[in-house]
Amino acid sequence: MLTVLDAIKLSTEYLEEKGVKEARLNAELLLADVLKMKRLELYLSYEKPLSEKEKNVYREFLKRRGEREPLQYVLGYAEFYGEKFVVNRSVLIPRPETELLVEKIVSENLSPDLISILDIGTGSGNIPIILKKEIPTAEITAVDISEDALEVARENCRKILNDEIIHFEKADIFDINFPRKFSNFDIIISNPPYVSKDEFSELEDEVKIFEPEIAVTDKSDGLTFYKRIADAASESLKPGGKLYLEIGHNEGEEVKQILTDKGFGKIEITKDYAEIDRIIRAEKE
Ligand code: GLN
Repeated sequence: MLTVLDAIKLSTEYLEEKGVKEARLNAELLLADVLKMKRLELYLSYEKPLSEKEKNVYREFLKRRGEREPLQYVLGYAEFYGEKFVVNRSVLIPRPETELLVEKIVSENLSPDLISILDIGTGSGNIPIILKKEIPTAEITAVDISEDALEVARENCRKILNDEIIHFEKADIFDINFPRKFSNFDIIISNPPYVSKDEFSELEDEVKIFEPEIAVTDKSDGLTFYKRIADAASESLKPGGKLYLEIGHNEGEEVKQILTDKGFGKIEITKDYAEIDRIIRAEKE
């Protein structure tokens, strides 16, 4: 007989051996999901024996996590801004830093007017879905180059907003016709792949092996997408329109320069909770 407590102890050891950080927390979150409980409920169920079926599902989860697959892919969902988003290996796992980006956009744009928003590289759709919830008057278009990512985004939109009221479309920001196809926006947002080639090689296996490479790195200096987005956004935004971008930890000044060169003004960099430059916003003159 294997009880909840036995299972937690054994699997924590197993995950530690595999180099998984916060092994106990991971073991508990996976077990709680198998048993359809909240993590803290496990503590009231230490003596409960696991059924054969539960053991099998848990074993499979642990095997995957032990191979360093991210917890969220194993569970099939990630929490973002208080909502559960379906995720799989086609999409970047939404990060807490990106909640800050969304928070900033919401706080600066709570007008009841109709505003049009474009999200470039939408992935799981986390940014537009939360924005639509928080700013119902917004008309939102979200693009991604990956059809598989768009499928996940549409599913999240149906699940979280009970409808598909965001316009999802496949598009490549490097397409020269992009600004012509997507024009006249009040706000453009992007959390682009900003990790440089050198920094990518230093990342943990969870990211390097399992998350979509095209969502994480430009395989260059990390600035490729900012240059292109600045270019496209200077055409796609209405005069006075705003650009909000997430940036990497040491990219603030360089991205500021890129935006200045493209004629953007009112540039402002915001730090995240770790005091790292994380968001840049600018306005088209
Ligand atoms: N927009 C998504 C996010 O912020 C995906 C970003 C990406 O794939 N680079 O999580």
